[in-house]
Amino acid sequence: MSAARLLDRSVQYLKGVGPRRAEALAKLGIRTARDLLRHGPHRYEDATTVTPIAKLAPGMDVTAVGEVVSKGVVPTRRGLRFFQAVIRDSTGLIECSWPGQPFLDRTIRKGDTLLVSGPVRFFHGRQIQPREFTVLARAGEPAEEEGTVFPVYPATAGLTHRQIRRIVRQNLDALLAAVEDEGDIVPDEIRHSFELVDLRAALDWLHRPPTIPHAELARRRLAFDELFVLQVLYARARYENREKRDGLAFQRHNTLVRPFADSLSFELTNAQKKVLSEISNDMAQARPMNRLLQGDVGSGKTVVALFAMLRAAENGYQAALMAPTELLAEQHHNTVTAMVGDLPIELVLLRGGLRSAERREALERIASGDAQLVVGTHALIQEGVEFKCLGLAVIDEQHRFGVHQRMQLRRAGAEPDVLVMSATPIPRSLALTFYGDLDVSVLDELPPGRQPVKTVLRGESARSRVFEFVRTEVEAGRQAYVVYPVIEESEALDVRSATEAFEHLSNEVLAELRVALIHGRMPGDEKDQTMRRFVAGEIDLLVSTTVIEVGIDVPNASVMVVEGAERFGLSQLHQLRGRVGRGADQSYCIVIHGGREPPERLAIFAATNDGFEIARADLRLRGYGDFFGARQHGLPEFAFADLERDEPLLHAARDTAAAIIAADPLLERREHQALAHALRTEYRERLQLFDVG
Ligand code: ADP
Ligand code: MG
Repeated sequence: MSAARLLDRSVQYLKGVGPRRAEALAKLGIRTARDLLRHGPHRYEDATTVTPIAKLAPGMDVTAVGEVVSKGVVPTRRGLRFFQAVIRDSTGLIECSWPGQPFLDRTIRKGDTLLVSGPVRFFHGRQIQPREFTVLARAGEPAEEEGTVFPVYPATAGLTHRQIRRIVRQNLDALLAAVEDEGDIVPDEIRHSFELVDLRAALDWLHRPPTIPHAELARRRLAFDELFVLQVLYARARYENREKRDGLAFQRHNTLVRPFADSLSFELTNAQKKVLSEISNDMAQARPMNRLLQGDVGSGKTVVALFAMLRAAENGYQAALMAPTELLAEQHHNTVTAMVGDLPIELVLLRGGLRSAERREALERIASGDAQLVVGTHALIQEGVEFKCLGLAVIDEQHRFGVHQRMQLRRAGAEPDVLVMSATPIPRSLALTFYGDLDVSVLDELPPGRQPVKTVLRGESARSRVFEFVRTEVEAGRQAYVVYPVIEESEALDVRSATEAFEHLSNEVLAELRVALIHGRMPGDEKDQTMRRFVAGEIDLLVSTTVIEVGIDVPNASVMVVEGAERFGLSQLHQLRGRVGRGADQSYCIVIHGGREPPERLAIFAATNDGFEIARADLRLRGYGDFFGARQHGLPEFAFADLERDEPLLHAARDTAAAIIAADPLLERREHQALAHALRTEYRERLQLFDVG
C-alpha cells in the first residue's frame, strides 16, 4: 500500500481498532491514521527518574512505580475517608494515601501497575501522598518497560488513555515508515537552520520520547509545521494579490482630501502621516489594498479612515465604513458627519431600525451611487447590499470580523480596497497569525497633549468614596461613566444590575446630578437620544451596561468607573479606559473589584497604559479564543503551537514561507514537492477556509 493510502485510510483498519473503537476515536477528532499519528499526549509521565521503593525516605519528592498488592478505603476519626494502596517493586513496598478520595477505590485495582509522584512522609511508616498518579498497566496486561517516558493521551468515552497508547504503539512503526515515504514538508536546509528535527523523528518522539526534552523537540517541530503551513498560505495570498491588476488605482485628485485636511482643527501626528502615506500608496496601485490599521485606543484611527474614504470619493467611487454593532455604526456616522462638515459629500447611514420606506430609499441611494460614503454594520456586506461602485471598504473590527467575511466582501463586486481597523491593539504574534494576508500599519503615537489616564483599583467597600469623587469631578464641570459588565448567562441580569444601580445613584447617592441609563435592550432611538444628550453635556453621569454602548468620543468625560471588573478582559478594560482621557485634563479610570485584594491581572492593567502590552498580557492570561471574544469562525486551531512561547518560531515560519513563495510561487521545485502535496491533501480544508488556494 502506498504511504499516502495508509496514512489517509480510516483509523478503523489499523491494528487493534475496529469499528467500535473507530467511533470512539472519532469523538477525539481522529478519523484517519494520520490523525492518530498527530494526536499528541496532553502530558507525559516521566518514569526515567523513578526511584526504587527501598530508597524512598521522608522528605523526598519522588516518582515511584509499583504493582498494587493491596488497597482499600480507610475511615479516619474526623470522618474523612482515605483511599490507600500499597505498591511493590523489586526492592520493597510502600503505602500510598489519598485523603478524601474514596472514589479512587473504583479506579485503581489490585494488580495494576501504578506510577505515582508526590512527597514521601512519615506516618506509621513511610507513605507517599501522590499529587498525581497514572495506571500504567492493568492487572494481567504486559507492564511497560521501566525507564521510559509514558505518554498520557486525552481519553474519551469508550477508550482509556492506556488503550489509545496501545493502539498507537501497535501501529507507530508502520505509520512512521509511511511518513518517511511521503517526504518532509520542511526543506532540509530550513530544518537545519532552525534546528528542527525531521518529521519522522518528531512523530516518533511525540509518542515515545526517550526523555522529556525529546518530547519538547517533537512539539517544537510540529508547532513549526502548524505555523509554517499557515504562513505559506498567507504568503501565497499576498503573492496573488500583488499579481492582481484588476483593482482600482485611485488618483491623488485632492479635491476632497485637501479641503478636509485644511478643515481639521488639529495637526496630524507623525504616525498618522506615515500611515496615511502607506494607505495612499496602496490605493494608488492597481492591485487591491489589503491593509490592517492598528493603533491604541485614541490614536486617531477614524480620521485616517476618513481620509481614505474621501480619496475613494474624489475618484468617483463609494466608500463603506462598517462597525460591529448598530450603536457603533451610529456613532461613526455622527463622527463622520461632524468631521466632513461642509464638504460636498453625500453620506448615508444604513441602520437596522429604519422604517421600510426609509430603508428602501437608503438602499436606492447606495445602488444609484448617489451615496458616496455609507456607514453601517457588518451586515452591509453580509446581506449583500448593492453598491453602484464600491471602491473602499473600511471594517472596524472589534474582534468580530472573520477571514471568511473579508473574503465575502471581495466576492461582492469588483475588488474594492480593504482597510481593516482593529479596535483593540493586538499582539504582533496574533496579527501575523490571524491577519497574515494583510499588510499592517501601526499608529504608535497618541495625539499630543493627552495626559495618561490615572488608573486606580478599589474594593467594593470604597464605592461610596468613589462616587463622592465622581461628584467632585462633575462639580468641576466634567462628566463620568459607570459601566456594568455583561452577564453572559442572562441578559436580563446585567440590565437589572445596571438599572438598580441607576435607581440607587440617581435617587440617593448622586440625586442632585443628572444621571441617565443606557443598556442594550433599550429601543435604538432612546439610546441614540441619551447618547446625544451625553455628548451635548446635558447628562453628568452615564450608567451603562456594555463596552460597546460607550464606544463614543466625549472629550469632556473624565471619569470611567468600572464595576465588576473581574468579568472584563484586560483589553476590554483598556477600551473602556480609552473613553476618557480624550481631552486635555487629567482623567481617571476607577476599577471596582470584589474581594479584599485586587486580582493580579488588574494590577497589570493599572500598571500600564500601553494597549499593546495589555493585549499581550490578556492573550497570555486568556488564550486567543477568549481574547477574540466568543468562538470565532475561521480561527486556525493549533494542537502544538503556543503563540506566546513560540513567537520566534512564528517569525521563522513566516520568513521562511515568504522566501519560498518569492522564489517558487507555485511550489514547482523538487524540494517543495512534499509541501505542495501536503497543501493539496492534508491541509486542503485550511486552504478552503482561507480561500487562498
Ligand atoms: P481611535 O479610533 O483610534 O480610538 P479616534 O479616531 O476616535 O481614535 O480619535 C480619538 C480622538 O482624538 C478624537 O476625538 C479625534 O478627533 C482626536 N484626534 C485624532 N487625531 C488627532 C490629532 N492628530 N490631534 C489631536 N486630536 C486628534
Ligand atoms: Mg475609533
